[in-house]
Amino acid sequence: MTAEDEVTTDVCVVGAGPAGLVLALLLVRSGVRVAVVEKNGAGQREFRGEILQPGAMELLDRLGVLSGARARGAHEHARFRLVEHERVLLDIDYRVLPAPYDHLLSIPQAHVLDELLLHLGKYEDFTYLDRRRVCDLVREDGVVRGVCAEGAGGPVVVRARAVVGADGRFSKTRRLAGIDAGRTEAFDLDVLWFKLRRDRSPQPGEPRDVRVFRAGGNPVLAYDSFPDRIQVGWTLPHKGYQQVVARGFDHVRSELARAVPPYAELIHEQITSLKDVSLLDVFSGRAERWAADGLLLIGDAAHTHSPIGAQGINLAVQDAVLAHPILVGAVRGQDASSAVLEEFERRRAPDIRRVARLQAVQSGAMLSTGTFATRVRPRLAGAMRRTPLYRKVLDTIAYGNRSIRIAEHLLTD
Ligand SMILES: Cc1cc2nc3c(=O)[nH]c(=O)nc-3n(C[C@H](O)[C@H](O)[C@H](O)COP(=O)(O)OP(=O)(O)OC[C@H]3O[C@@H](n4cnc5c(N)ncnc54)[C@H](O)[C@@H]3O)c2cc1C
Repeated sequence: MTAEDEVTTDVCVVGAGPAGLVLALLLVRSGVRVAVVEKNGAGQREFRGEILQPGAMELLDRLGVLSGARARGAHEHARFRLVEHERVLLDIDYRVLPAPYDHLLSIPQAHVLDELLLHLGKYEDFTYLDRRRVCDLVREDGVVRGVCAEGAGGPVVVRARAVVGADGRFSKTRRLAGIDAGRTEAFDLDVLWFKLRRDRSPQPGEPRDVRVFRAGGNPVLAYDSFPDRIQVGWTLPHKGYQQVVARGFDHVRSELARAVPPYAELIHEQITSLKDVSLLDVFSGRAERWAADGLLLIGDAAHTHSPIGAQGINLAVQDAVLAHPILVGAVRGQDASSAVLEEFERRRAPDIRRVARLQAVQSGAMLSTGTFATRVRPRLAGAMRRTPLYRKVLDTIAYGNRSIRIAEHLLTD
């Protein structure tokens, strides 16, 4: 690419995350020309969730991407458990789901994204413009007709019939379009995010689990991350980190060790300064609208969720699958007006409301204390496991809306 390059395409996707790349693959496989603009280069990816639910696994498998991504390295986890000291307060066992998606998968997002890019690279109709940050929208008579981007990859103007903002929770595309992020305060959290080197691997036959510990009051997420790390996320009330850090590094470390007793020793050994941890601002929200003339928002750019329950990638992949036929129709019919693109929001909004409600319940369950939560609930949860309601809740967490299927009739290969 040279300076002042111009690319003309059918659909310009901003952001090469799970939503953007799954959508791009579905579109090129339907004969639609696609350009993806991504601000980062290979290996420069940001902190991302790694836990794939069965729903995302199944869709990626149908796209022919899952096995290659898994071959790059991943760990299967059998259960999601809420633990307080030695007591298991909540135990969600994925092994009751039908194989082959009877587990959670912890897989570095780079493995999934690189595999998607490998598949995309086979299509002449695909253009990848990485190391370019979208900084403006191209508008004609108020209609979005492309983007301007700049960065180490060189400045570029992309002209397209439709632009899809799949650029995540801080979406620039959304901001440039003047659409409010609809940030809600309910799930605002400070999350301390870091990895520890594991000192032991599970014994043969011993299941790996995604666990939330709440010994120290604030929940801590921990799971084995490929290849030999433990990913830890310590959640604190919003702005709570400032209060903890004001008391010095040793205080942060001892609070952390107290919050997650099984890893206390590793924390003391391996966390030696604040540089070893990253502070993330986590929030949830729902953009005031997801479509404008020439523009559609999907994934985190449209709706951002609390990391509790690991729903974001499932939702992002499903968004792409649902948006695919709508965009193919818009390109073929030469009509990417908001009236056409709004169909996406009409169909998807009820699912997003359902997930938000479920996450509120999950979050309440993680934080509630007292006799009911610590003594009655574990027994109730054990009895619940044998009821149809338990299976329904597990299915919803694992799959979301199962009626979202790839529009295979549109795929030309
Ligand atoms: C701490 C944390 C832990 C999480 N854990 C999990 C988990 O275990 N499981 C799960 O399912 N979800 C998890 N999530 C949520 C999950 O990561 C997101 O929901 C998911 O990645 C959303 O996918 P997306 O494609 O919409 O956006 P993203 O994955 O955010 O991708 C957006 C892309 O757009 C690019 N971009 C941004 N701005 C621009 C620009 N101006 N120009 C060009 N490109 C741009 C970014 O570089 C990025 O590649 C977690 C989130 C957080 C914060």
